[in-house]
Amino acid sequence: MEREFEGKVALVTGGGSGIGEATALLLAERCAKVLVADWDAEAAERVAKRIGDAAVPYVVDVSDAQGCAAMVHAAVEAFGRLDVAVNNAGVGGPQAPTGDYPLDGWERVIGVNLNGVFYSMRAEIPAMLATGGGAIVNMASILGSVGFGMAVAYVAAKHGVVGMTKSAAIEYAKQGIRINSVGPGFIDTPLLATADPEIIAGVSALHPLGRLGRSEEVAELVAFLASDKASNITGSYLLTDGGYTAQ
Ligand code: ADP
Repeated sequence: MEREFEGKVALVTGGGSGIGEATALLLAERCAKVLVADWDAEAAERVAKRIGDAAVPYVVDVSDAQGCAAMVHAAVEAFGRLDVAVNNAGVGGPQAPTGDYPLDGWERVIGVNLNGVFYSMRAEIPAMLATGGGAIVNMASILGSVGFGMAVAYVAAKHGVVGMTKSAAIEYAKQGIRINSVGPGFIDTPLLATADPEIIAGVSALHPLGRLGRSEEVAELVAFLASDKASNITGSYLLTDGGYTAQ
């Protein structure tokens, strides 16, 4: 068994479902203590229970800066330090062309997917500096480097996440914090699984590998970047996209 996070403390936002859940489970399996942070209290509770004693559930809305500060405080209070942060909470948002894009949808998607990552990092970094460093992994998307119709807010937010990651990585490299982002392709989440088989087939076919990605595959990349195996990697944007962006 890999025990690379022995003695380390992690927090995962959006840890109550999908990629965040798979990541929380994998970090814990590799011996991290994990704060499972999600605005869905039941989901956070369920995942923390799956993990057991090494996990604590926490309710947060990452679009609130004070909430993010309190979340980091809670991780340090529960486990004594913060070594790893996975800023993964996200929403899909409405689908509409830019000229008709609902303003409240824009505000929400930017609020959670972009501001949420900034607010989280802003709180996590001082906590990590206090113990000499750490690793942050921000959840971007393939839509952090290419466009997609009917999703202007999501694409803007994810491009922003990739850029913020690079800037922050430069700032804290010498102080022992590595900061990277991950770009998954379309993932086989419960949400997609309920879609029309034709839609699933169509989305699968967008990837040269011919299938959707799995949350566990994304979690593997996140865990790698969060671990000392990635000691020379910072400011990177690494894809796990079945070849989507190679086209
Ligand atoms: P993915 O496939 O990207 O993992 P999910 O919808 O399964 O997508 O997971 C996203 C998680 O983020 C959910 O558990 C959701 O409750 C959580 N989340 C969404 N918005 C917020 C928010 N503002 N604050 C905290 N968690 C959030």
